[in-house]
Amino acid sequence: MSVAVFSTMICIWCKSDHTTLSKEHAIPEALGCPPQLILDDVACKTCNNSFGKVDHALVKQFEIISVMLGVRRKGKRPPTIDSWSAISSEHCADGPHIYINRGPGDIAANGKKLRPARRSNGIEDAWIKPEDSKMGFSQQFGNDPLFLPSLYKIGLNLVAYNFGAETAASPQYDHVRAFVRSEKGASFLKVAMDAVPTQTATNRVSGPITKNGRAYPMFQVTLLGVTFLLDMAPDQPCLRDLRGAATMMGEKLYVFPAPKA
Ligand SMILES: [Zn+2]
Repeated sequence: MSVAVFSTMICIWCKSDHTTLSKEHAIPEALGCPPQLILDDVACKTCNNSFGKVDHALVKQFEIISVMLGVRRKGKRPPTIDSWSAISSEHCADGPHIYINRGPGDIAANGKKLRPARRSNGIEDAWIKPEDSKMGFSQQFGNDPLFLPSLYKIGLNLVAYNFGAETAASPQYDHVRAFVRSEKGASFLKVAMDAVPTQTATNRVSGPITKNGRAYPMFQVTLLGVTFLLDMAPDQPCLRDLRGAATMMGEKLYVFPAPKA
């Protein structure tokens, strides 16, 4: 007698068993996912494909930095600015060429229509000093409503990476799934951000950080030099402690979203 054995794997998003799962980049490929964070056993194809907008929210926040730092995309393609309406870029032999429209009207540059830089499209305070060959602008950071869900998507992948997909798929993490999918009534998760970015072309993640015997870990995720602290607990006690400690020490710690003044 022979017994057919089918091994199944659980998808951490839909919690269904599948015989095959698709390749998941814990950090979006466009930002340069470290090879060890390409996970084969965490997400089914349907769920993987459903996160396009969430992943894009993260890519957009780091797109301009990724061009400045020359972070290669899929198939070693050079990075370009595609997600902002007032700014675009072109990859040239001498480095990136950046086009920005200071307004007041629309202009065509680099084969693309550029809108004037303004608060409503996220690029502000554009200035150019042709005499010094210098330009500058401010990019809004963290305003996209899918930005924090995109970070917690990395967080749940890190739970699966460190503790296994079964743990990540357990009800203990339903609040993270709901938040990443922007489900109605999902509890809102905050994130702390290091005030001093370093701008390096690499991404790093920590192992699980567990404090005071708490049931949920924290993870430190550094994307192109910007470090975020994700507290995987629904009530986020570690973030509360960190904020308290930073205030006491007079240190700067940004918590997204900032409390309303
Ligand atoms: Zn799934």
